[in-house]
Amino acid sequence: MQLDIDLTGRDVLVTGTDTAARQAVRRFQAAGAVVHRLASPQAADAALPARPFLVAAVDDGQPGWEPLLAGYRAAGVPVAAEPAAGTPGHVTLVGGGPGSTDLLTVAAVKALRDADVVFYDRLAPYQELPSLTSAVLVDVGKKPGHHKVGQSDIEKLMVESAVAGNNVVRLKGGDPYVFGRGGEEVAACVAASLEVQVVSGVTSAISVPAAAGIPVTHRNVSHMFTVVSGHAPLTDKEHHHLAGLGGTIVVLMGIGTLHHLAAGLRRAGMRADMPMAVVERGYRPGQRTTIANLGTIAAAAAGCSNPAVLVIGEVVRVAEANRGHAEAAADLDRLAASLLGS
Ligand code: SAH
Repeated sequence: MQLDIDLTGRDVLVTGTDTAARQAVRRFQAAGAVVHRLASPQAADAALPARPFLVAAVDDGQPGWEPLLAGYRAAGVPVAAEPAAGTPGHVTLVGGGPGSTDLLTVAAVKALRDADVVFYDRLAPYQELPSLTSAVLVDVGKKPGHHKVGQSDIEKLMVESAVAGNNVVRLKGGDPYVFGRGGEEVAACVAASLEVQVVSGVTSAISVPAAAGIPVTHRNVSHMFTVVSGHAPLTDKEHHHLAGLGGTIVVLMGIGTLHHLAAGLRRAGMRADMPMAVVERGYRPGQRTTIANLGTIAAAAAGCSNPAVLVIGEVVRVAEANRGHAEAAADLDRLAASLLGS
């Protein structure tokens, strides 16, 4: 049950050990309440408000809380049970999906809820974070060309925070292990003897084409897909291998090297009329799909910008065909409506 009560300026008494109560304290402070603390049932003294607005009773496992809570209940003060915060001092790398909270996993939502500190990227669904966690939010996002916080500094920050006793979540766009430097971050935690977990995410390599109606594989059309980083230009040998596979090619971070890739694949023998799509800002406002072919994409995609996923292959036509069907069906509906109406 979720209740929205204005707690601004209200006295809220949070009971429970500091460790167990830390997330409840942060949440009530963030809601504007005046938080009073009682870390053990024996410590009750006169400094506490006689009639707080609410008692948040954290389940910290200590015996002896019940008489105290019963006293508040008898006085008509609501007592709300609060779960204890999880054991502190570990790191969870969380895949945040392509940008919509709908595509967060249940494990991601749980990890965010239990976090004390979240270090997030710009590609993760960061705008909704305040509704998903009471954790302290730290933006370590990197835009192409603007390295806000360097990778080794991110790792240092995460490790320091966890060593200081925090439940750290490192929230990354898509899946942490797909061009996400997740492996390096896990290694940094392991080197610092920290417990570390990885929560897989929905990768943009599959979900962003899907947002444009493009299936990365399709029976009798493509039985494989290769996910490539366009961060650095590919070599001619790589262009030849890719062209020779005959499957779908999905490119992340590929806007900057789009011309180079299209020209390289053409040189490697790929047909100029091979369909190609650029899907920008999947699942976000301004999502846009540009469809062309290998020969025309350089001109067609001139106005495209990051973040975008490129798809090269016959599967792009499947989306076109489905869109054609959907549009034809809509046309028929409109026609039927107009006939019925006339
Ligand atoms: N780990 C991420 C990829 C990180 S690399 C994942 O699994 O999705 C960053 C690249 O991902 C961007 O340059 C872009 O190519 C792609 N990307 C991520 N989110 C995207 C989105 N919502 N729309 C389009 N492209 C996206």
